[in-house]
Amino acid sequence: MKKNFKVVFDRDRCKGCELCINACPKSILALDSSVNNKGYHPACIVDQPECIGCSGCAIMCPDCCISIYELEEGETA
Ligand code: SF4
Ligand code: SF4
Repeated sequence: MKKNFKVVFDRDRCKGCELCINACPKSILALDSSVNNKGYHPACIVDQPECIGCSGCAIMCPDCCISIYELEEGETA
């Protein structure tokens, strides 16, 4: 059974440095087109079901903006 994960960003703490985007082995992170309250384009996930929960993005983020949750069976992100 494939495990599913939810990646949550603290949008307003993100400075759009793209380190998480470059760290993701699945290339499923991007900068949002909207800006946060600091005026940066924050990182977001564009293909949630493809996340393998490796935590690479969260480990890479210098500002600890990313949390990853494993979803229960049948739970949706
Ligand atoms: S947990 Fe891994 S696969 Fe999922 S978004 Fe982060 S780096 Fe990408
Ligand atoms: S590494 Fe952190 S601060 Fe940089 S873009 Fe990703 S979430 Fe934002």
